Amino acid sequence: MQLSDKIKHTIRDVHDYPKPGIIFKDITPVLSDPVLMHEIAGQLKQDFQGQKLDAIAAVEARGFIFGSILAHELGCRFIPIRKAGKLPYKVRRKEYDLEYGTACIEVHEDAIQSGWRVLVQDDLLATGGTAGAAAALIESFGATVAGFSFIINLSFLPGYSLLKERFGVDPHFLTEY
Ligand code: IMP
Repeated sequence: MQLSDKIKHTIRDVHDYPKPGIIFKDITPVLSDPVLMHEIAGQLKQDFQGQKLDAIAAVEARGFIFGSILAHELGCRFIPIRKAGKLPYKVRRKEYDLEYGTACIEVHEDAIQSGWRVLVQDDLLATGGTAGAAAALIESFGATVAGFSFIINLSFLPGYSLLKERFGVDPHFLTEY
């Protein structure tokens, strides 16, 4: 079976979470399958090795899991981007729109240097709001968004085309719905 199908077969659909009408893609069964996780790590490494990357940035919480695996596989820095108020040192922040209301993410002000090429990793791409905000934060340091990497793309939502248009790169993903 292809990796894409293995991931799909392992993900659990949770209906009406976090609110009625939403089918949430629960990746925790993927995390508890060490053979599948090993294969995911190997595929990500294969897909990104050889690219000039200075850092992998990821948004908490699930982005941290795959982002730190990829950073480890490639032997490059990991940059945590966190929800407001979680990072201990001086931060730079970015507000972004949610379906209802706004959210805010932060990164340490000394975490990114001008001229770096930074890849954004998350578990899932939906509207693109989260990854887009992370990428805008990265650009605000004078760094380049070298790409986006997701385990899952929800292709019935506009995230993929939004990121491609705004940042000029094709988001990478391992499986899609
Ligand atoms: P977006 O900002 O609308 O693209 O939503 C993506 C963000 O929300 C990512 O950080 C995901 O972790 C999270 N997310 C949204 N929907 C799901 C889901 O169905 N399963 C897991 N994470 C999700």
